[in-house]
Amino acid sequence: AVQSMSKSVPVPPPSSGDGGRVVALVIGAGGREHALCFALQRSPSCKAVFCAPGNAGISSSGNAVCLPGLDISDSSAVISVCRELGIDLVVVGPEAPLVSGIVDDLARAGILTFGPSSKAAALEGSKTFFKSICDKYNIPTAKYKTFTDPSEAKQYIKKEGAPIVVKTHGLAAGKGAIVVMMLEEAYDAVDSMLVKGAFGSGCGKLIVEEFLEGDEVSFYALVDGETAIPLASVQDHKRVGDGDTGLNTGGMGAYSPAPVLTPELQSFVMKSIILPTVKGMAAEGCKFVGVLGAGLIIEKKSGFAKLIEYDVRFGDPECQVFMLRLKSDLARVLLAACRGELSGVTLDWSPETAMVVVMASRGYPGNYQAGSVIQNLEAAEMVAPSVKIFHGGTAFDSDGNFIAASGRVLGVTAKGRNLEEARERAYNAVEAIDWRGGFYRHDIGWRALTKTEVEKEG
Ligand code: AMP
Repeated sequence: AVQSMSKSVPVPPPSSGDGGRVVALVIGAGGREHALCFALQRSPSCKAVFCAPGNAGISSSGNAVCLPGLDISDSSAVISVCRELGIDLVVVGPEAPLVSGIVDDLARAGILTFGPSSKAAALEGSKTFFKSICDKYNIPTAKYKTFTDPSEAKQYIKKEGAPIVVKTHGLAAGKGAIVVMMLEEAYDAVDSMLVKGAFGSGCGKLIVEEFLEGDEVSFYALVDGETAIPLASVQDHKRVGDGDTGLNTGGMGAYSPAPVLTPELQSFVMKSIILPTVKGMAAEGCKFVGVLGAGLIIEKKSGFAKLIEYDVRFGDPECQVFMLRLKSDLARVLLAACRGELSGVTLDWSPETAMVVVMASRGYPGNYQAGSVIQNLEAAEMVAPSVKIFHGGTAFDSDGNFIAASGRVLGVTAKGRNLEEARERAYNAVEAIDWRGGFYRHDIGWRALTKTEVEKEG
């Protein structure tokens, strides 16, 4: 009901007297939001860009005016600021405000907002809802069963055998899925999720899922409630250490496009996964508007892609490589999505490959100390063509130096004619940055690069 309300709300006319150019507000404070501000600022149809709360790097880049004092969890405060500043389009970056309903609140106030309603955001927020949509609309995914009783879950695991995957039902900050190779580990996972109540929101219900063996890749699409258009493929590196070792993080690097997702597979994903999801969500009465990122495994045994999860917003750092490659007017495209007018729209992309290398505070994803000084950023952006440094979390110290203010601090991004060139440029820039409190992975892109090496030799 909320979603249909948002459709019937009159769309505020673009600010007058400026050829219909709009004023945009990006919600969030990370590298993803910096990349969105960067692309919106370059949009011919965008007059001004604000970012709330933003960070020091976003404001000093000149890509947006930041509103550090605005509490983005307080919808009425956001609505007042939108009215004050004459905001025509709000773009929501992170998933938390989406799940808690910021889009519903802004739509009710008549403010055009890019992102799904809280009901539609359940595609990411609730594994059981996600799986039920896959079932009902025949979307290829891993075979699974839902359990509330630990002994029934264990019996099923015993029958299916390892390797197998145990998942909590709700959002668990990336820690809700446990891939287990031994039965004993699977039983422990069931106990910690159902008996000990680990992972908060997921407790009480879990999913046991078939283990899919194959390459992991993501594919993103833009959705306007009724239809979807492709964005791009991307591969990321979630583990903190080289060789994909160590703890899981929000993402230590990414590149786009991802060569494993061939044009044939992309059409398959659009036709058999994205579009049925969009139609299914509309049929369920919760139209999806926003970005849909499909987490896929290209199954080794069949060669086809299966869906393992959805992101209901741009991934971070994935968004950073997308925005470096996008040539189209982002503001215009996002407005079309909000208005249900994406049908027939095509996007213009740089044919180059983009890579981002994330620089994080030492200690991340565990305890880390903020406040270390970062220098030479301006020079680092000049070391190679097309380098752009997106700020994930920086502040200024009293001397006006940039200091680290979060776990993932910088997204050092570059384009190149191929992955090798993009990588060389990104790492040259990384090495030019003077930041003793930071670290980064040295092998972003290794899977795709090893594959091309093998193909060349073969
Ligand atoms: P999720 O919590 O669903 O995002 O899963 C987190 C990670 O677990 C994924 O990125 C995969 O690496 C892995 N994973 C999840 N489901 C499966 C599956 N069915 N088969 C193999 N790996 C999986």
